[in-house]
Amino acid sequence: MTRRVDVDYLVVGAGAMGMGFTDALIDHSPQVRVALVDRRHGVGGHWLEDYSFVRLHQASSFYGVASTVLGGYRVQTGGPEAGLWERADQPTIVSYYADVLADRMVGPGRVDHFPGCEYVGDRQFVSRISGERYEVPERCRIVDARYLAPDIPAETPPQFTVEEDARVVPVNELVRVDEAPSQYVVVGSGKTATDACVAADAWCRSRRHLLGASARALDAQPLIRRPGPGHLSPHARHPPRVCGAAASSSTRARCVSPTTRSSSTARPTA
Ligand SMILES: Cc1cc2nc3c(=O)[nH]c(=O)nc-3n(C[C@H](O)[C@H](O)[C@H](O)COP(=O)(O)OP(=O)(O)OC[C@H]3O[C@@H](n4cnc5c(N)ncnc54)[C@H](O)[C@@H]3O)c2cc1C
Repeated sequence: MTRRVDVDYLVVGAGAMGMGFTDALIDHSPQVRVALVDRRHGVGGHWLEDYSFVRLHQASSFYGVASTVLGGYRVQTGGPEAGLWERADQPTIVSYYADVLADRMVGPGRVDHFPGCEYVGDRQFVSRISGERYEVPERCRIVDARYLAPDIPAETPPQFTVEEDARVVPVNELVRVDEAPSQYVVVGSGKTATDACVAADAWCRSRRHLLGASARALDAQPLIRRPGPGHLSPHARHPPRVCGAAASSSTRARCVSPTTRSSSTARPTA
């Protein structure tokens, strides 16, 4: 049996986009009722599944929904960014969206949240857990908030050939490696790859190598890490390559260059 959900808007996707839209909608139209649907178990979209050491790359106050400031304009007090605005980490972003959902949306009775539900078209969505099917009325507007949804390494198989003796792990796994590999090859050149080199401080090389001359300003900072076992050596035989996944092997790392295959199907990681 299909259960009818009597709402004016059905928002598909509860990531930054869907949350931002819903937040603004209920602010501007106090009477409307909204159903917020996501196949994930909570709100916040990809942040729920990202690697644990991801942070915003801009000040927290420039991210999130319009009604509620993320990070309370806090300023960093230590490290290379002392004196600059806070950049929220993953747990902070996830808990921020959970609070916005509870306090602004579901609590006041403006939004019905349907986690773990897949929008299947034709005004219908289905619970991935119970199989229950829901339908919204003809007058209800469907808002597709999935347009910019990124693919993330934790949920996307490598889009390149992996040789038998190479071990390829998504960036999320870096914090769980039990044996230090002799070297790493980072596949990717976006934010995720950079984080893999810089933020995973248990194995990164000094920021001086990454930042060049501009790193002189960091000289006085205590947070510069020195390379140790398993760190990417400046003389590594295999220089870093492109991706959001990290390839490693306990003896050696090998990476098939994406340039040897069509990379046009690869979706960019942030
Ligand atoms: C690792 C990483 C770091 C990033 N860092 C930054 C940053 O610092 N600053 C910045 O501005 N941007 C950053 N971005 C860019 C990021 O894409 C946006 O900030 C934003 O989070 C994207 O939100 P979204 O709602 O478009 O997508 P998502 O967060 O992916 O949300 C879309 C949601 O739609 C749901 N969905 C999809 N299809 C269906 C369906 N059929 N039925 C139900 N639900 C469905 C998905 O489950 C998902 O939760 C980063 C991206 C990544 C991957």
